[in-house]
Amino acid sequence: MNAKKRVLVCEFHQETNTFNPVTGGVELFRAVRYAEGQKAYALCKNLPCAFHGMIDAIEEAGGEVIPTISLYGGSWGLVKDSVTELLYDRMRHYVAEAGEFDAVFASLHGATCTESEEDACGAFLAFLRELTGEDKIIAASYDLHANITEKSLRCADVICGYQSYPHVDFYETGYRAASLGMRKLMGKPVKLAAVIIPMMTPPAGYTSLEEPFKSIIDYGKSLVAGGTLLDFSVFNVQPWLDIGTIGCTITAVAEDEASACHYADELSKRFFDNRDGYWPDLMSVDEVIDRAEDPASAKPVILVDSADSPNGGAVGDSVFVALRLLARGSKVTAGMFVKDPEAVKKAFEVGVGNTAVFTVGAGYTPGMPGPLVAQGRVRSLHDGSYLQEGPAGKGFPCHIGLSAVIRFGNIDVMVCEKPTGSGDPQILRHFGIEPKVNDLIVVKANTSFRVPYSAFAGEICAADTPGAGASNLKRMDWKNLPKNFYPFDLEEGYTPEAATIRRP
Ligand SMILES: [Zn+2]
Repeated sequence: MNAKKRVLVCEFHQETNTFNPVTGGVELFRAVRYAEGQKAYALCKNLPCAFHGMIDAIEEAGGEVIPTISLYGGSWGLVKDSVTELLYDRMRHYVAEAGEFDAVFASLHGATCTESEEDACGAFLAFLRELTGEDKIIAASYDLHANITEKSLRCADVICGYQSYPHVDFYETGYRAASLGMRKLMGKPVKLAAVIIPMMTPPAGYTSLEEPFKSIIDYGKSLVAGGTLLDFSVFNVQPWLDIGTIGCTITAVAEDEASACHYADELSKRFFDNRDGYWPDLMSVDEVIDRAEDPASAKPVILVDSADSPNGGAVGDSVFVALRLLARGSKVTAGMFVKDPEAVKKAFEVGVGNTAVFTVGAGYTPGMPGPLVAQGRVRSLHDGSYLQEGPAGKGFPCHIGLSAVIRFGNIDVMVCEKPTGSGDPQILRHFGIEPKVNDLIVVKANTSFRVPYSAFAGEICAADTPGAGASNLKRMDWKNLPKNFYPFDLEEGYTPEAATIRRP
């Protein structure tokens, strides 16, 4: 009974956008993180990530970490089935090799679809439950944008999501999930109540730094600080998932069932009642360019093109703003990045300082305007490896493949093979496009950019742009969403279901 608790730790992180036609396999995880065993342990111990938080919480509680597999990717379309085949195979191996153990803790994203499974994280938890039996403790940490399904709630004992958006509590969330898991392993009560609400809203429309979302998170935190709750999460689901099982899930964790249910209900009501407040005010691209052209406006003007955010699972291939700037003959200096491996290849052939006619962008996203065809000068060529400046994810290595900066008129376009981490200024700054000294910067991110960019932005303007991650959700061609779903056809007078405990 007093033997050291032995805990397997694993990780599977990817954010899917089903409107992005580009599927991705193990190579896209490898580009960020694919490591196993002690290598995964050593690598994660040096990063401010959920896996690291889990390691520390287990060891501080006197437990032993058995590191298994860490598969950490960015955002794109569907994950190839070969990835989950690898994940399941390796977990079978580590479980067989571990001998006696007590628990499995998993760092997950939670909004992940594979070619054959729309609820890949729920399916993974069901697989772990089947593999390890009903008596093992399973704790999981998630992104705030996770799609927490009935299946996940039935299979996991502990579920914790980020409480910040922009996300800055990766480590803390892993730590919370693992601490609750260890607590349960010690025989103490951990009751998790949940409410699933049939709704989705665009991530560009809310943050935990501003009302109305802020006060919901702050209220949950006050309940934890005051000892009323052990934990809570508000999962505001990533909306670009055209699937049949989807919703926002609110959880509350307490020592007793009544408190867990009571506060899950209260948080859900507050969250749902504010639903119309989680939408961005969008400006047209021309309105934003007008601001950038106005000598009286503070610079740089940040044009937020969240519709093309690779962080949100869009492609990053839009040249929509560049096309408008060129069509207007605008004189503003501007910078942006565009995914276009063919343009990169050509830039390497043309060489630094030389000029050619380039065709850039609109290569992937269906219906995306473009491409941009114009004479451009190659300014620099890069291997595409750099470190993020943070504060979120400071020091995270990024590998965006071969890349080049091409200047069209007054516009610097960084073309690359596979953009990731697009909310961090280094995706431009590292390549010699200094956001501070341009009139207009196109930021292809939802909210992650706000902390670093707010430090120097003259103005931040959310724009109504096309792309797989459009904030205007009614633009998308939905085929699979459940009926009776906000913001589409939710019945008048709907109120959230009563909280229940799925796994006693
Ligand atoms: Zn997220």
